[in-house]
Amino acid sequence: MSEVEHPVNFVEEIIRTDLAEGKNDGRLMTRFPPEPNGYLHIGHAKSICLNFGLAKKLNGQCNLRLDDTNPSKEETEYVESIKADVKWLGFDWGDGLYFASDYFTKLYEMAVQLIKSGKAYVDSLSPEEIREYRGDFHTPGRPSPYRERSIEENLDLFERMKAGEFKEGEHVLRAKIDMSSANLNFRDPPMYRILHAHHHRTGNEWCIYPMYDFAHGLSDAIEGVTHSICTLEFEDHRPLYDWFLEAVGYQESNRPHQYEFSRLNLTYTVMSKRKLQRLVFDQHVEGWNDPRMPTIAGLRRRGYPAASIRNFCERIGVTKNHGVIDVGHLEHAVRDELNASSPRLMAVLKPLKVVITNFPDGHVESFEAPLYPSDESFGSRILHLTKEIYIEQDDFMEEAPKKWFRLSPNKEVRLRYACLITCHDVVKDEQGNITELHCTWDPNSKGGTPADGRKVKGTLHWVSADKGVKASVKLYDRLFNALNPGKGKDDFIEDLNPNSLEMISNAVLEPELMNIEAGKTVQFERLGYFTADSVDSVPGTPTFHRTITLKDSWAKLAKK
Ligand code: ATP
Ligand code: MG
Repeated sequence: MSEVEHPVNFVEEIIRTDLAEGKNDGRLMTRFPPEPNGYLHIGHAKSICLNFGLAKKLNGQCNLRLDDTNPSKEETEYVESIKADVKWLGFDWGDGLYFASDYFTKLYEMAVQLIKSGKAYVDSLSPEEIREYRGDFHTPGRPSPYRERSIEENLDLFERMKAGEFKEGEHVLRAKIDMSSANLNFRDPPMYRILHAHHHRTGNEWCIYPMYDFAHGLSDAIEGVTHSICTLEFEDHRPLYDWFLEAVGYQESNRPHQYEFSRLNLTYTVMSKRKLQRLVFDQHVEGWNDPRMPTIAGLRRRGYPAASIRNFCERIGVTKNHGVIDVGHLEHAVRDELNASSPRLMAVLKPLKVVITNFPDGHVESFEAPLYPSDESFGSRILHLTKEIYIEQDDFMEEAPKKWFRLSPNKEVRLRYACLITCHDVVKDEQGNITELHCTWDPNSKGGTPADGRKVKGTLHWVSADKGVKASVKLYDRLFNALNPGKGKDDFIEDLNPNSLEMISNAVLEPELMNIEAGKTVQFERLGYFTADSVDSVPGTPTFHRTITLKDSWAKLAKK
């Protein structure tokens, strides 16, 4: 499916107006600023599509900035995964790859500048005391006894903080704003704290680290970002970012402006990094890229096409409304994309043997079958019909209801692309389990159309018992079976779907499927879309898992 033009969202409207009015010298610069403390998820995809998408559409630049101000939590593995995910989603930061840690020196200088202008001070209250002095929504804060330290003393202490003379928590640098402000972010927010921690890029060079609220807006300004697009929880922080920008001398006309939109929430899905981390660390899943995870790496491995994620993000739009999107919309976008892009082949997941009794022993009938039934010019492969084949156990019923168009005793069905068969015997073991079916074929129905033109409704997929390849296949389902995982429970883990992974160990695949490259998705006719796993597959022996089920697959085939 091609990408669709959608109505302009409110952020795009703002940008278009700014560009038309020649603001920022006609420049557009956005950025996507993840903290490298986990893998990106589908919520981040919304922000990526918005920031990179707008820059692409309106001839701007979008930077990728790793917001690595918190040394104890960040790892290089996460940085690499973030870069890979943004690229895979189809976006390009050009020369604009930055780290907040690139600005540690500049940010330090800005902090010194604020001390010199009397707008920051070193506080020596303990963290608990700072919290207590801060007050809350109902109580105004109280000034710290250290608030009126002289500029000289502040400069000296801050420099010694940087030099490593103090222990963690002994001092912090705070902005001097307003301890009774109704906006709690204004009650002398901390700007720098002491952390004797190794940083993934700056090593042991620093033992003071800027707080997110101090670093974030200023990093945008340093890069020349014009439109700082972020999620609504930062709305209350905007005045603080503006305060810092003004305090270090950025003019109104020459600084970033922040616009907030609502986060993406999905039914049956958790998205907070803390929860995703828990799933990984406590081994409820195989890892960050487990195909059941809502991470970009998981969705990619699952077989969700990048275009389907982009289309989904377009369709849900960008607003300020809080809400939860039905995960079905994402799945719908995935089916739309896979329906057009996936070749169709045959596999039997739960095999039932069929012996075609009037088929000559050792005989092989070959049939050409298109890979894309909707456009046969895209190629085909040869199917081999042999005396013994497999069909799906579910496709046979001994006592069938009236509208049963699949196989049952004395009924005739079509084997997809091959011929018509009629069941005349059901073979059972001593326990009464069906072990095989005996059928006859109509040699005058090659290709599936009988010579006398009689109508046969049912069409089954099948695989030759001689030529087919035995395989295990994983069937994935939603990771949680609650609409809002964790709601009303002590722990969201209680809502894990115990059946989110079903291992099928004796599937039979048509041999052509052995040529599918790892990472590629195909349709197993009537069963769903399946992807050759990019982690477990070895060259020549792909391992398949189900990406997503088909909608109404049976109804469609029955009409043919
Ligand atoms: P989480 O709460 O999942 O840990 P986060 O906001 O802490 O996410 P960051 O790495 O700080 O994660 O996010 C980078 C960017 O992605 C931010 O601009 C943030 O607003 C945006 N973002 C994160 N989650 C979502 C979401 N669910 N929907 C839209 N944007 C999101
Ligand atoms: Mg965050």
